[in-house]
Amino acid sequence: MAPATKQQVTVLGSTGSIGVNTLDVIARHPDRFTVYALTAQRSVAALRDQCLVHAPRYAVMTEEAAAEELQRELASAGSATTVLAGSAGLDQVAADPAVDAVMAAIVGAAGLPATLAAANAGKRVLLANKEALVMAGALFMSAVRDAGALLLPIDSEHNAIFQCLPVDDGARPGLAGVDRILLTASGGPFRTWDAARIAAATPDQACAHPNWSMGRKISVDSATLMNKGLELAEACWLFGVGPGQVTIVVHPQSVIHSLVQYLDGSVLAQLGNPDMRTPIAYGLGWPERLAAGVTPLDLFETARLDFEAPDEGRFPCLRIAREAIAAGGTTMAACNAANEIAVAGFLDGAIGFMEIPAVIEETLARVSRVEPESLAVVEAADSEARQVAGELMRARGRAPLAQSER
Ligand code: NAD
Ligand code: MG
Repeated sequence: MAPATKQQVTVLGSTGSIGVNTLDVIARHPDRFTVYALTAQRSVAALRDQCLVHAPRYAVMTEEAAAEELQRELASAGSATTVLAGSAGLDQVAADPAVDAVMAAIVGAAGLPATLAAANAGKRVLLANKEALVMAGALFMSAVRDAGALLLPIDSEHNAIFQCLPVDDGARPGLAGVDRILLTASGGPFRTWDAARIAAATPDQACAHPNWSMGRKISVDSATLMNKGLELAEACWLFGVGPGQVTIVVHPQSVIHSLVQYLDGSVLAQLGNPDMRTPIAYGLGWPERLAAGVTPLDLFETARLDFEAPDEGRFPCLRIAREAIAAGGTTMAACNAANEIAVAGFLDGAIGFMEIPAVIEETLARVSRVEPESLAVVEAADSEARQVAGELMRARGRAPLAQSER
């Protein structure tokens, strides 16, 4: 049965891979959800089309010129949607009193302020933007606690872990009887490649993920295994465990999305076809289950499930992230920023695939490490690492990347 009042939903990053999947699930349940606001960086045509279908109260474009163009296009199409611009517009639609749930699906550090604004406003926060926790985990989790926000992980592994954890007195996931978390990784497109072949990999090869269709940045992170390093940090903040309580397991079929091992020897897993609409529907509907349009898992077709240990020799980003988590302070924020610069450089053809870990590691050796006591401190660490990583890329004799260094 549908609830009496519909949930008003803001989708931050609605034109991206997670955003589009979120709107697909929402459209299956018009009796439950109303789209309150949609946001994008600069894809005017995509956001216009979404506005014409979902008729949100607000649309936000972070780039001013794009916002003006969207305003003109929506006005001429007779749309009643109000267009806002810039990061202030993102914060506004994330924290608006009329909003019940916020899907945080902006990619990268750019998503942190609005995601934090949603947490501070006590919203149901559907967290796809893992970078918010990676950069500012302590600040973000205390905002969630202080404001009474409901944090539901959308990253498929963390959503699986959430589903497999025991429930505590407050009907929230706890750790009673838990021995360890088993965080699965597909291994990415280069899992079986030798080091020389990996070093010569092109952006299109890195983005051709064997099981998941995702945005280009996270696809490269999956190929380097930095995504698993970011997810290790994400798991520690979300579930209140140390990195030593998490084992990373490469599972090439991406059918098991992660597992929880208990003290009595039981291991609980969540399985399903690799389709982000499953965790998205779980977040939108929790504690109820909603139809998501996902093809049911056919175990006879799957036939086998394989597991192996990650190879940190061929994929040094996982080791770098693990060391950055152990270093604490702002080191993971710097690691995330250097990774964003290096990945943008790789996607632009400015550096090779194996220069991604090199740029990150050299950046981390140069930046300062401080306690992340405020958003301003985290943002300063992020900027410093972007600047250092940009300088290191230029020192390698490559073209500067003004756009992605900002
Ligand atoms: P994407 O690149 O497909 O989409 C990103 C969205 O963010 C777009 O709507 C874009 O307009 C917006 N955006 C980009 N830069 C922005 C900026 N500077 N300011 C404001 N908006 C900006 O990304 P995605 O693959 O959908 O990933 C979104 C987030 O979800 C990432 O944090 C990623 O790690 C996480 N995630 C994605 C998947 C997946 O399957 N795609 C799975 C797990 C987690
Ligand atoms: Mg994931």
